Amino acid sequence: MGDQPLGWARVWYALKREEDEGLLRQGAWYPVVTSGVTRAVLEVSGQRVTVPQEALEVRDKRPDRFTVVYRTREDPNPARGTRADVGRRYGVCPMCATRLPFRNNVIPPVATCKECGHQGIVAWWETG
Ligand SMILES: [Zn+2]
Repeated sequence: MGDQPLGWARVWYALKREEDEGLLRQGAWYPVVTSGVTRAVLEVSGQRVTVPQEALEVRDKRPDRFTVVYRTREDPNPARGTRADVGRRYGVCPMCATRLPFRNNVIPPVATCKECGHQGIVAWWETG
């Protein structure tokens, strides 16, 4: 592994900026390419995205737990009413960032990603 990332970063919910919508996914982990005092650069789907450090939670090792994202009623949900709508509470795969709907809105203890097959604990005690 020659291209080891500096770490893995998750963007705090508060950062959701318009221009990042569709690139940075809430609750997903991204490799850190460079890390400065105030800003870090993340690799997101092959692109480099600069993000303020204060908006990031960084881990040394790649997390293997699913993040649970809670949306409030006030949050904009462009997918509402469409097939892409995963509801107000959903999991995010730590490996491929796929969103995982919870059946009947119940958070399971473990989950399997339908996209990449990753199996992991659902970190319901953390807020993503
Ligand atoms: Zn996955």
